[in-house]
Parts: sequence; structure tokens; C-alpha cells
Amino acid sequence: MRGFSTRAIHAGQDPDPTTGAVIVPIHASSTFAQDGVGGLRGGYEYSRSANPTRTALQECLAALEGGRHGFAFGSGMGASDVLLRVLLKPGDHIVIPHDAYGGTFRLVDKVLPQWGVEYSTVDLADVDALRAALRPTTEVVWCETPTNPLLGIADIAALAEVTRAAGARLVVDNTFASPYLQQPLALGADVVLHSTTKYVGGHSDVVGGALVLDDDEIAEQLRFTQNSVGSVPGPFDAWLTLRGAKTLAVRMERHSDNAERIADALAAHPAVAKVLYPGLPGHPGHEVAAKQMRRFGGMVSFLVAGGKEAALTVCASTQLFTLAESLGGVESLIEHPGQMTHASAAGSALEVPDSLVRLSVGIEDAEDLVEDLRTALDAAAS
Ligand SMILES: *Cc1c(COP(=O)(O)O)cnc(C)c1O
Repeated sequence: MRGFSTRAIHAGQDPDPTTGAVIVPIHASSTFAQDGVGGLRGGYEYSRSANPTRTALQECLAALEGGRHGFAFGSGMGASDVLLRVLLKPGDHIVIPHDAYGGTFRLVDKVLPQWGVEYSTVDLADVDALRAALRPTTEVVWCETPTNPLLGIADIAALAEVTRAAGARLVVDNTFASPYLQQPLALGADVVLHSTTKYVGGHSDVVGGALVLDDDEIAEQLRFTQNSVGSVPGPFDAWLTLRGAKTLAVRMERHSDNAERIADALAAHPAVAKVLYPGLPGHPGHEVAAKQMRRFGGMVSFLVAGGKEAALTVCASTQLFTLAESLGGVESLIEHPGQMTHASAAGSALEVPDSLVRLSVGIEDAEDLVEDLRTALDAAAS
């Protein structure tokens, strides 16, 4: 198999056969001319079912995750919804991480119960806790690693073994790591999910989702269900995502460089009570992360010593880190999960500490980012 960046730039992206265009065109057409009834020229008939720009993205994403089948969606949640419609039926049980992405928790906690699906929340850093949570009806184990926003690490290979022995399927939400840093299918996962809104797109200018898997039968059901419910990206969104994917490797290296520098600087600042970053040797998941990830990524969370008010002051005091939800773009973002991304988890098993601050470290100059955080922390400490 060719190297990661070669696949990112070429997989699914041969020059256009009719014009020679080096870049896959934005095929902004809802329908495709037929040569006689049923005579499809390139296999396309209607863009909900399939569109050539989307096909290019899907082939690229499958190549990046090392899977046989790729599907692109209008959002990460659109991908999750279609996947769970296929994998679950009434009476089934799903295990989700105790600090799952808030939107995933909402889907499982508010939407799926209406369809008779039950769930448990488990700290998937603890394989024995997963074993204890499995039921005869468990069909899906849903894993995120690193987790959001606590940056917990789960051992994908160990979870895959336990999940397979129980006759269930392991889904890995690989959004935080990106396919460059972590390859769940090679570690035994059945399906990989992405919010391509984040690192794959990488420029905070498009919302999208993806699924990659090897299993032909599940792939066929996904194709059928996606077409039936219609959660597809438009051709312009697919094109932007494909454009972002080309530079994924160089961006992830730089995100990781900058995050490492920032984690060290935060750990040395008296206004910080604790830094959560899997690249730090003291992180409880450090060894597992070092085993299954190429590097440790661009997400850093920390607890502010002064509590909630001090955490809010830090969030309000940065100049370069923009106060905003989402992550994975070239620009640095800061947020307060307790009142922003994870506000809907208040009072639930997924509630997060109110002194917690989450950073999506961008690819600006590290010295400028460190200086910005130092100034904001000084403001919170005074
Ligand atoms: C953003 C995100 C999602 C949801 O994706 P959307 O594109 O916002 O629908 C799922 N999982 C994780 C880890 C995310 O960060």
C-alpha cells in the first residue's frame, strides 16, 4: 500500500477523463443523462444515490482508513444515525463511553430509546468495566479515543477482542485522532466513524461525516439506508472535505508539535491544576496511546486551579484562541465544556468538571499560542 499522504492526494482522484482537470470537479448536478432507459453512462442517475465528487471523497477516506468501503454524510451525526439504524433493532443494547461526544450521547439518550434501544455508559479505559456492562442483547460497543473533552484513552485492540467474543461490533469514533494518527480497522474495529467537520476537513468551513468499514454486508445496508433517509453531503461540501484531506498529514504533525509545547507550558503554570494530554508521560493512557497512535494530536484539556470562575476568565481572556465550539481547524479554539459543548450533559453521567477548559490547538506559531495562554492564565490568577 502507498504512503498516507500519497493516498490522501491521489486515492479516488485521478485526473478527469474528459477534460484532464487535475482536481476532481464539483459535479453540481442533481441528475444525470441516460443513453436510453436505464443506460447510465458513468453509473450515476441521481445525486442522493451517488454523485461523482462524493465518490472521490469516499474512495479517498476508505484509502486513508485502510478500509474497503467509505461513505460520506452531511454531518458526523448523520453518519452515526445511519450506522445505528443498521446495527441496532428494538430490544438491543449499546455501550457508549462515559464521556462520549455530547451529540452522540443525545442521540443514544433521547432518540434511540423511542425505538426500544437501551444503553450503558462505561469508562472504556477499563476493559473489565466493559466486560461487566455487556449483556446478551449488546450489539454495539461505541468507542472514542482520545475522548472528548477529558482526553481519556481506550485500548482499541483490547476492546475489539472483548467485543468480538461477545458477538457485538466495535465502532470507533476516530474524529479526535484522524486517520493519520490512528487506524482503528487495523486494530480490530468493525467500523470507523468521523466527523469530517473536524481534522479531515481541517479548515472550519464545512460540516460532514464519514463511515469506513470492510464488511460487505453492512456496507450494502449502509448504502441502502443512506439513500433511503437522504443524509448525504452536497458536491461542494464533498469537494471542500477532499481538499482538506490532502494536507491532513502535515497538519496533524504541526497540531501535535504545537499541542506538545502547550501541554508542557500549561503543566508548568501555577494557575493550572491538571493538564489532560495523552502525550504527557503522567497521563494514565499514555502507554496505550503511544502504542496505537502515531502522535498524540491537537486536543488539550486542563483544569484551572481557581475553579469555574477562573476557567471562564481564561476562556474570555485569550486573543489568538477564539472562544468557540468545534475543533480540528487550522485556527486555535478555546471553550468551556461545562457551559458549551457539554452543557446538555449537566446532571447526567457525562457531566464534566466546571473548572475544565478545552483547547483545539491550531497550526499557528507555537510561541504565540503559548504566550496567549500564559497571559490569559495570569489574568485568571490575579
Ligand atoms: C463533532 C463530533 C461529532 C459530530 O459530528 P458533526 O459533524 O458535528 O455532526 C461526533 N463525534 C465527535 C468526536 C465530534 O467531535
